[in-house]
Amino acid sequence: MLTDSELAFYARQLLLPHWDIESQLNLKNASVMLIGMGGLGCPASEILARAGVGRLTLVDDDIIEVSNLQRQTLYAPKDIGQSKALTAKTALTRINPHIDVQAICQRLTAEKADELFGERLYELTKTDDVPDLLLDGSDNFATRYLLNRISVEYGIPLLSASAIGFSGQLALFEPKKQTGCYACVFGASKVASDAETENDEGDNNNPANCASSGVLASTTAVMGGLQANVALQYLGRGINPLRGKLLLWDGMSMSQKMMRYERNERCLVCGYQDE
Ligand SMILES: [Zn+2]
Repeated sequence: MLTDSELAFYARQLLLPHWDIESQLNLKNASVMLIGMGGLGCPASEILARAGVGRLTLVDDDIIEVSNLQRQTLYAPKDIGQSKALTAKTALTRINPHIDVQAICQRLTAEKADELFGERLYELTKTDDVPDLLLDGSDNFATRYLLNRISVEYGIPLLSASAIGFSGQLALFEPKKQTGCYACVFGASKVASDAETENDEGDNNNPANCASSGVLASTTAVMGGLQANVALQYLGRGINPLRGKLLLWDGMSMSQKMMRYERNERCLVCGYQDE
């Protein structure tokens, strides 16, 4: 059920012809885990919070630095030196008091993922602690590939976004529907790419990230916004508008392309799942 206060908060959304009470309830009952609360995680989480996603878990071990303020929209100069996850939690709770926001001030590791999801996924009933969707807003290949492995291993959909310079990429992988995974598209090894992400962690594994290559403030806002848009379609209406497609956005030419991909049967991460 939605309370009167929630009906008023989401009134403009509920007017939409393709968005009804059921869609809004789907959002209210949904749980999203955001990994990386930088240039992508800030706008994406803000939109999900305002739209009414019931539970947001923010994972980031970083503290806020002055160079983050140009694009990480939930932070102000007074927050420098504070935890990103905790500061974002406070900001999002202020924006929408109807939702539950949790902060995990740690870097996601395989062990942490097992602690968070492992035992619970063996139970037959789903608990609130297992997210319906993972949002990748990380800035390094190690985290990207780890998140992909977690997504495949635990069967949790992964909405992967990246932004650097003037351009970005977006894909939604659904392991239980065998749509293919991040490694099907980009290969299973760490390869150089000119479309790496955000978050200023300065990871040396990255051939390019925002710390080394720069990013326009609007690039992360657009890609975080597009990521939130796909998340709302998926959680509210059960639609994956990017099934089998990688979205490529170029802010210099203002063009957008869809690139088709197929699941790689020989993928080292998601291949041979049926055997
Ligand atoms: Zn794969």
